[in-house]
Amino acid sequence: MRSVSVLGATGSIGESAFDLLMRAGGPEAFRTVALTGAANITRLAEMARALRAEIAVTALPEKLGALREALAGSGIEAAAGPEAVAEAGARPADWVLSAIVGAAGLPPGLEVLRRGGTLALANKESLVAAGRLVMDQAAQNGARILPVDSEHSAVFQALQGENLDSVAAVTITASGGAFRDWPLERLARASVAEASAHPNWAMGQRITIDSASMFNKALEVIEAHEFFGLSCDRIKVLVHPQSIIHAMVSHHDGGSIAHLGAPDMRHAIGYALHWPQRRALPVAPLDLASLGSLTFRAPDETRWPALRLAREVILAGGAAGAVLNAAKEQALDDFIAGRCGFMDMAPAVERVLAACAGQPGFATSPGDLATVLEWDGMARRLAAVRQAGAA
Ligand code: NDP
Ligand code: MG
Repeated sequence: MRSVSVLGATGSIGESAFDLLMRAGGPEAFRTVALTGAANITRLAEMARALRAEIAVTALPEKLGALREALAGSGIEAAAGPEAVAEAGARPADWVLSAIVGAAGLPPGLEVLRRGGTLALANKESLVAAGRLVMDQAAQNGARILPVDSEHSAVFQALQGENLDSVAAVTITASGGAFRDWPLERLARASVAEASAHPNWAMGQRITIDSASMFNKALEVIEAHEFFGLSCDRIKVLVHPQSIIHAMVSHHDGGSIAHLGAPDMRHAIGYALHWPQRRALPVAPLDLASLGSLTFRAPDETRWPALRLAREVILAGGAAGAVLNAAKEQALDDFIAGRCGFMDMAPAVERVLAACAGQPGFATSPGDLATVLEWDGMARRLAAVRQAGAA
């Protein structure tokens, strides 16, 4: 029986993974090692009981008592704190899904790679903040990373049996998010509630807002660069409002292979879960005749400056990814808390990147977790200070 762990089980991706595991037979089909969450103790305990996990871990130390209580009588171990989350990644399991949101997903993901495990990676922030470190860690330990972000899963699938050298470009699509058709002048006044409503995908709040600002696509461009080793001129973004084509691989011979599917993350999660096989999944089949048409447009970088920042970060290399990711997380915190407007996020990130670019060591890719966290901390402090100064 295969053993699995889900890091970030109580989130949107985690819920989809739980659904797949339960439909596949739950504890009869998979041995669940660790499930982790943060604030949602009730759901974490429910999931751990349903899957008969060995251990349930909350990232929040103050929630340990509540977790122990919720697991009472189940025989399931309880633990709490960021170190315990990292240890959950270190526990031997055949397949570990990293579905934690933000840079907090990096330490447990590195633990999975350190022990040569298979990491199904939804947590794109790990690759953005520490792409070199993550890929080196995987290569050195014979670990495997399977992409779960839908566009990267799509590219990965389209590349099966193909040679990367024959690839002229990879195109990842973007729905355009909540504000795709808003007049530009209205964007500055966009509210958190408005930015949190995605037209096609049901996702966590942070990635939904990142979709509206295109920071999500910016992270994905960097993720594609780090994971597939493509230069930024070979990674294209195309606005595709229907979210049916997730990505397309274009070859030098003029042929392109696109990956299509309903906007349902259970496809990409399930593909990674069963890889290298394909199993039936509870994903609605495509009905293109009913859809009638698929439309496309080039992204407007005045509306979405994050895309330009992604290219600049790839060209800068070194610690730029760690800085962009942390500054973006801070700017997003500020937007959600009402400390800045929607259109203030990209300029805030750009200012922090410019400030960090002058620091010694910026041009060197961080070679260990501590260095990534140093840049992360510096970027967050600069973003917060600048924000306070701007207020
Ligand atoms: P959610 O916000 O829905 O879930 C995040 C998960 O991480 C929850 O289990 C949450 O626990 C936990 N968590 C929050 N903070 C911490 C922390 N500091 N340390 C450890 N765990 C923490 O996010 P999503 O499921 O939407 O996204 C997860 C990841 O997958 C992100 O990296 C996102 O970019 C990526 N992704 C998501 C997609 C989607 O469709 N949602 C699509 C493609 C990629 P709790 O809820 O208990 O507080
Ligand atoms: Mg995606």
